[in-house]
Amino acid sequence: MLNNLAIKILVLDDETFMLKLIARMLTNLGYGTVVTCDNGLAALALVGTAENCPDLILLDINMPKMDGVEFIRHLVGQHYRGSLILVSGEDERVLQSVEKLVLAHAITVLGYLIKPVLPERLSALVGRCLPPPKGAVKTVKKIYSESELQAGIANGELVNYYQPKVAVISGEVVGAETLVRWCHPQDGLVFPDQFVGLAEQYGLIDDLTRAVLSSALPQARTWLDAGLSLRLAVNLSMDNLLSLSFLDYVVGLTAQAGVPPAALVLEVTESRLMQDQRVSLEILTRLRLKRFRLSIDDFGTGNSSLAQLRDIPFDELKIDQSFVHGAWANDTQRAMFDASLSLARQLKMETVAEGVEDRADWNFLRQRGCDIAQGYFIARPMPAEDFPAWLADWEQRREQLL
Ligand code: C2E
Ligand code: MG
Ligand code: MG
Repeated sequence: MLNNLAIKILVLDDETFMLKLIARMLTNLGYGTVVTCDNGLAALALVGTAENCPDLILLDINMPKMDGVEFIRHLVGQHYRGSLILVSGEDERVLQSVEKLVLAHAITVLGYLIKPVLPERLSALVGRCLPPPKGAVKTVKKIYSESELQAGIANGELVNYYQPKVAVISGEVVGAETLVRWCHPQDGLVFPDQFVGLAEQYGLIDDLTRAVLSSALPQARTWLDAGLSLRLAVNLSMDNLLSLSFLDYVVGLTAQAGVPPAALVLEVTESRLMQDQRVSLEILTRLRLKRFRLSIDDFGTGNSSLAQLRDIPFDELKIDQSFVHGAWANDTQRAMFDASLSLARQLKMETVAEGVEDRADWNFLRQRGCDIAQGYFIARPMPAEDFPAWLADWEQRREQLL
């Protein structure tokens, strides 16, 4: 725990009354070093000094001269490394969009406060503040070269993790999603956001997807043999759907593994704009005719849109996690969740909610009647060998969740 006295806090608000009020609350909470400013320029002058640069800024986003959003732009320009709490009398949606804006700049946002500021909420947010590590440099993610990635795939360094999908109504395990990881000899376990996009750029995505499928399908067979009627999902890139040979590959491999097409779910997002949709549309339609299940992933994010829903015969709609986790407490998210759910129902598609992180999210799904849940609350993605132990544990847990 950081000593309260050691945190340097700056309160920025154009109203003198607010400044005094918040400063007093902070002092009462035991924060010793609180400075106030009534305009952005004065605050930026402080941020610019090594001595007085605050660890935390409470920022009023509605100010007459330099508004909060402009102030944040200057903070980014000055490479501010502390934290931020946004304060406003505006409604939550404005605060949320400013919060998103700041997150895009890698400044830590501890949260937001709606005026009138309540001491309990203030205390909870300020309590999250950690001092910026001395001399820390932002960790830059490694960018793998084409030959590194190619070698990794060829050497069998990709491993599949599996995350369960469970029926909300019964808690029954109905499927699992395959999520690829790169078991890198030097860097350890590397997550897909660090190499799937690159594989697309380097033209290696077919190799990657084939590697994933070629171990996922035998795994699906193993589970079926063990009496688990799971549908196994695999993520496809739109780039996989550019050539008809991919279709033959999937059909051939599924038959060879002895997995019925209806037990394989193909999750699709549109990560890039397609030049020509005809081939992908043809492949998806033919896969569907062969009884493979098609799922639209990350629905609602702009990568997966209404136009796709109109054009492609999907069986399943995955509501993006950004509309799920915390939706019970957030009007905007909940509206989008409900709209997605209703759309899926009207189109007779099964609904999967991603990002179910806690009991409150789970309860919300039960109340809304969503079909399937996936998320950390149920299980984190795991290697196949951990699945039986998780399953035994889940059988115990699920009783209490219904
Ligand atoms: P996705 O298909 O939407 O997969 C869900 C992601 O959310 C996974 O991240 C999963 O670990 C994470 N997740 C699951 N439950 C929770 C939760 O409760 N809270 C939060 N915050 N996150 C949760 P992961 O494994 O890092 O994968 C990221 C993305 O990479 C996937 O998103 C998918 O688009 C892509 N990807 C993964 N494997 C493959 C693959 O084999 N091929 C292709 N083309 N893309 C893949
Ligand atoms: Mg997916
Ligand atoms: Mg998703």
